[in-house]
Amino acid sequence: MTSEAEGSSPNRASSGAAWDDWTSDAGHAGHDLPLDAHLHTDQSPDSSVPIDVYAALAVERHIPEIAITDHVDFDPRDPAYRYTRFEDRERTVRGAAERWAKEGVTIRFGAELTYNRRWDADVREHLAKHHYDYVIGSVHDWPESPYWPSRVRAWVEGRTLDEIVEPYYAEIIAAARSGLFDTIGHLDVVKRYLHPLVTAEQLAARADLQEPALRAIVEGGVSLEVNSSGLRYPGAETYPSGPVVARYRELGGERVVVGSDAHARGSFAHRLGESYRHLIDAGFGQLTFRRGSDRVHIEVPRRTTIGTPDALRA
Ligand SMILES: [Zn+2]
Ligand SMILES: [Zn+2]
Repeated sequence: MTSEAEGSSPNRASSGAAWDDWTSDAGHAGHDLPLDAHLHTDQSPDSSVPIDVYAALAVERHIPEIAITDHVDFDPRDPAYRYTRFEDRERTVRGAAERWAKEGVTIRFGAELTYNRRWDADVREHLAKHHYDYVIGSVHDWPESPYWPSRVRAWVEGRTLDEIVEPYYAEIIAAARSGLFDTIGHLDVVKRYLHPLVTAEQLAARADLQEPALRAIVEGGVSLEVNSSGLRYPGAETYPSGPVVARYRELGGERVVVGSDAHARGSFAHRLGESYRHLIDAGFGQLTFRRGSDRVHIEVPRRTTIGTPDALRA
């Protein structure tokens, strides 16, 4: 996993300005957003945000429920390998949950686990010993990955698009089928690792490349996360993009969830309305989330304030 910190995040899409206002301006708050299920605090190596900052922002913006999903890595070369102890993370998050409950925000204790088949057994053991409210399984650019910054150019050269993305989706398929996770995080983040050698447009033109992964997510019974952090990177699309969310639905996908994947204060719930918008457009009526022992459904809001950017500008 390379850093996901957003301090230097490039390329904010100018067309998203109205959405920025809507999701980040306390004045007319994102009061229709019921959940942000992907947040990193200072218990992740690539964030320095204290948990209370997100909690206060959630109160300010009337987001009633958030999940703290700090990184847990399983390769000693990855930055979140033993970066924190489970017990410390749990104590911090549960303590904050208690403090903030009376303010009207519910804080769930989650984690984002970096998945790879090589350490499947370690992930399994970790989850057998440690109980989270909610667990995201994500595939990052693991240390021997062809997408590692120093290796990606050589990997792309002379290969077809199918060959280029295969290692990423192979891990996603395994993660989806592993039975370990509630959610597959930021599907198609590989486009960030491949930029600018392969563009988002080139990948969008080959939507078929994602089909086996989408089918595995449907069959694995996990939620597909629509992660708005992609809007902060080149390509400026959610992970995955709107058309992929729609295709997932066509393939029988029923479980979805959303997250801003904030690593910085300014990224809290950032443009999360666009993730919700893709769900509404694809016909999803509910999120599928877990609160400890309960898998729950949370209604996707349909109020007009979550309408199109044009409607918001009007
Ligand atoms: Zn991630
Ligand atoms: Zn994350």
